[in-house]
Amino acid sequence: MSHEEHFLSPQLLSESDSFILFYSSQILVRDEEVLWNLEQIRDHLDDSTDLILLQQDADTAVIAVSLQQDISVALHAKLNSLRSLLFFSDQEKFLLAGRASQLVDWYKNHRFCGTCGTRTIHHGSERTLVCDHCSLHFFPRISPCVIMLVTKGDQMLLAQSSRFKSNFYSCLAGFIEIGETPEQTVHREVKEEVNLQVKNVRYISSQSWPFPSQLMLGFLAEYDSGEIVPEPSEIADARWFDIDSLPNVPSEKISVAGKLIGTFIDEVGKR
Ligand SMILES: [Zn+2]
Repeated sequence: MSHEEHFLSPQLLSESDSFILFYSSQILVRDEEVLWNLEQIRDHLDDSTDLILLQQDADTAVIAVSLQQDISVALHAKLNSLRSLLFFSDQEKFLLAGRASQLVDWYKNHRFCGTCGTRTIHHGSERTLVCDHCSLHFFPRISPCVIMLVTKGDQMLLAQSSRFKSNFYSCLAGFIEIGETPEQTVHREVKEEVNLQVKNVRYISSQSWPFPSQLMLGFLAEYDSGEIVPEPSEIADARWFDIDSLPNVPSEKISVAGKLIGTFIDEVGKR
């Protein structure tokens, strides 16, 4: 059965639907499986359960469920963080759960109008929450970010974050500010974080990154001028690395940072 609305009530669910379950910002998982069927969860749903349509095709729909109580024991499941799903063998499940998690958070955070405080209501046909009093529409929101690998000849600049203590090195990154193009953000962030000027900023690829609700736009940028001076509140260490002596870096499979590093290594190899 196909669903007409984006916000559902338990009476509208069908046997062919699949469900991703959230309790207290964590996901119920059993043996790397994140999808549940109606039979398994029916007894735990009531009219106060938030049900948001995630995706739908001809045969089946996937629905994000925000539970009011922890039913993990009843389902022989574990409560996992979204981040732990990054390392599942099936990346599709991580992407699906990431989308679900962002919608559940958005829904939870927009119950009331930010202007007048009136309780929001569901839009009939769109995935939108509405304040009837102000005629305001609240759409799910993403925060665009840039992530960039700065390169110099056959070397790349990798940095250690001062916020996460680890021996991990990665690309520089930052949020796009209002009024900026992504390329302008690349120039600004590289200058702020390591005090370098870059040129030939080139878009490579993107990734949805649900920690929380970010869209990462990945670039390569060539070194132009300056000496590395890390901004200490953000960068613990930053330096040039040869492609054949890299530190611990993100995997190409799970992150756009890994993909940027892989792209550059390929390009150097073909020179
Ligand atoms: Zn309002």
